[in-house]
Amino acid sequence: MKIAFFSTKPYDRRFFDTYNEKYGHDITYFETRLGRETFKLAEGFECVCVFVNDRVDEFILTALEAQGTRLIALRCAGFNNVNIARAKELDVSIVRVPAYSPYAVAEHTVGLMLALNRKIHWANSRVKEGNFSLDGLLGFDMRNRTVGLIGTGKIGERVAAILHGFGCTIIAYDKFKNQACEDKFGVQYVEQGELFEQSDIISLHCPLFKDTYHLIDHEAIGRMKKGVMIINTSRGALINARSAIEGLKSEKIGYLGIDVYEEEEDLFFEDKTFEIRTDDVFARLTTFPNVLITGHQAYFTEEAVSAISKTTLENISAYENGEELVNAV
Ligand code: NAD
Repeated sequence: MKIAFFSTKPYDRRFFDTYNEKYGHDITYFETRLGRETFKLAEGFECVCVFVNDRVDEFILTALEAQGTRLIALRCAGFNNVNIARAKELDVSIVRVPAYSPYAVAEHTVGLMLALNRKIHWANSRVKEGNFSLDGLLGFDMRNRTVGLIGTGKIGERVAAILHGFGCTIIAYDKFKNQACEDKFGVQYVEQGELFEQSDIISLHCPLFKDTYHLIDHEAIGRMKKGVMIINTSRGALINARSAIEGLKSEKIGYLGIDVYEEEEDLFFEDKTFEIRTDDVFARLTTFPNVLITGHQAYFTEEAVSAISKTTLENISAYENGEELVNAV
């Protein structure tokens, strides 16, 4: 099938070319993101393959369908960037990669927790500058700390597994209980408000939906323990970044670790070293010593990118062969 592949990075090309030897699709790689200025590149392509920050809104879907696109293949799990209702109206199929490596994201999540707690990022810079003082580097034992997980699906469950090993007390809020979390990792389900009040560390593992938009806002932060650590490796808009800045300034939030940011589509995945930064909210976040930011890399492991490539190509072949789309959205 002819595939217009947007937001291509060298590593995408390497993995997809390797796996595509088996599937034989005709892939054209575009470095640019899919958007209003670029959708014309996909003219005549039956399949358009996109990633987390490509925009697949009503306008783009309508335009793509008029140009002959019948399938949008997301090479990610989240689909908050796609107007699903419009796709249904247009009879454009949407497929995604629902699971590739929950281990990758869970391990990065815990990496952020440990780095923030033990200030590993500062410690490394200090040692390289010849400063071996421990002042300011005091951390805390993870054992016996209460960690609150919002969302205990595939990734939340893996975070629970790792933290169970550390001896943390794990509480969780989810609309649906995960029996394995309760039985194997001692997770205790509580109401969301209770989780805010009781947790030393809060980690977000739910999708971005209308009801989870700005889940962490001024009010939620107000209910939390002073000095709480908040970790977000899910989707940026789960946190109101302006409220987080206020929480950091008042020292209610003691640590913030984020791999995702609400306005990341204009920042992440690109080298902006020599560009003037215009996002004042993001710039303010980078000034706090107790904020650690990575640029949507939690998923980025050999195993996860392999699984993403394989499943995406399988999804496209299934559509081409008229098979059931098991990963349809
Ligand atoms: P999943 O579907 O397995 O689990 C999501 C869980 O959230 C489910 O148990 C669901 O019931 C729960 N949930 C839904 N609405 C909720 C609410 N209002 N409050 C609490 N819980 C709610 O998904 P997953 O594979 O564990 O992924 C979780 C999120 O991680 C994804 O939605 C995606 O946004 C994000 N993600 C990020 C990266 C990254 O690289 N940073 C990579 C993959 C996924």
